[in-house]
Amino acid sequence: TANPLPSQRTMSSSLDAYWMPFTANRQFKKAPRLLARAEGMHYWTDDGRQILDGVAGLWCVNAGHARPKIVQAIQAQAAQMDYAPPFQMAHPQAFELADRLAKLAPPGLNRVFFTNSGSESVETALKIAIAYQRARGEGTRTRLIGRERGYHGVNFGGISVGGIVANRKAFGTLLAGVDHIRHTHDPARNAFSVGQPEHGADLADDLERLVALHDASTIAAVIVEPVAGSTGVLIPPQGYLQRLRDICDRHGILLIFDEVITGFGRTGQPFAAQTFGVTPDLITTAKGITNGAVPMGAVLVKQAIHDTFMNGPEHLIELFHGYTYSAHPLACAAGLGTLDTYADEGLLTQAGELQGYFAEAVHSLRGCAHVIDIRNIGLVGGIELAPRPGEPGKRAFDVFLDCYERGVLIRTTGDTIALSPPLIIERGQIDQIVDTLRGAINRVA
Ligand code: PLP
Repeated sequence: TANPLPSQRTMSSSLDAYWMPFTANRQFKKAPRLLARAEGMHYWTDDGRQILDGVAGLWCVNAGHARPKIVQAIQAQAAQMDYAPPFQMAHPQAFELADRLAKLAPPGLNRVFFTNSGSESVETALKIAIAYQRARGEGTRTRLIGRERGYHGVNFGGISVGGIVANRKAFGTLLAGVDHIRHTHDPARNAFSVGQPEHGADLADDLERLVALHDASTIAAVIVEPVAGSTGVLIPPQGYLQRLRDICDRHGILLIFDEVITGFGRTGQPFAAQTFGVTPDLITTAKGITNGAVPMGAVLVKQAIHDTFMNGPEHLIELFHGYTYSAHPLACAAGLGTLDTYADEGLLTQAGELQGYFAEAVHSLRGCAHVIDIRNIGLVGGIELAPRPGEPGKRAFDVFLDCYERGVLIRTTGDTIALSPPLIIERGQIDQIVDTLRGAINRVA
């Protein structure tokens, strides 16, 4: 490999000050897992062990680590111009990246608002939806509809429309005027489905129930993940997303797809909207937009929605929203280097090439101890284990630790193991992940 292994080192600093996000801090600090270097499909730990990355970092490093075009773009931009204000000012790369994203997006979603994360993309999309309804003379449409088990980041809008109890219960009353449709997880009918489950398109009709309850004239938008990731890899049933689209159209409700994990090739097309053949009104993205190299997110918006804001005196700001770091020069450079890398290597459709092999590999875990369901689409896999009595999440966490000891990084949410490797993965590496997992599941009783 090009870079030398990091020298063996021990931590000289205390572990106390860093309050780690979404981490069991006390457990971690007793036995820290420290990553020191990354390249291609691998991480190296601070003591020099090689770890195969089965989760693209955190669903973001879709082109693999330390890709030269991305590294060079960031380095060059840092030297050329560190920062440019995005309010009433801009820099050329912001326009270039927006234009290229618009060309990748489903037809019509050709206006791009830059953020710095998935959570910020969600807040931005929800605010645009409500403000759009008002701008078109439907100011009573302020209600937002999410879905049970949905994950839309961690800010107040996102946890309000989100549907994961642990992310909500400690944080007060959340946004008013939010409701949720039912989730689509139905193991009784769909366990061990390969690809999209057969049963459950009718679950979209739950939106009709909320329309009957609240009236469509109060509803601005519905937000769902086309594939729910952080809640345990839930694949949309056949026909479900189309049915949701039809109901939204019938009632003048905007449909937002949260594609923070599905964007940039995860399901075999640039966006899951294209994989499933359903076009939403807004798409939230982040993660793979810069291959994880610099924080960035973006909301892709239908032109007609954007254009609704473009009235009134031309010197006035049309949308009172934005971030100091929207379209940050380093993020734009990373984004352009990332899109080049995806294009050079055909990565945005590579998951489609590999999904048959990947599906067979993950479904070969059927029959292992405690495996109660396996779900997959593109290069996403979910392996659900039966929880240990009284210890929800612990069995999967022990599998995670065992895999890490044996050189494979996976991720768990509850008792579901999630796989989402970089799109450059080779077949032998898929085997390595699944074989390591098989051993871990069998070892961890
Ligand atoms: N939305 C979805 C669907 C996600 O999966 C995530 C993160 O995993 C987010 C939003 C939040 O993104 P971030 O952590 O960049 O704020």
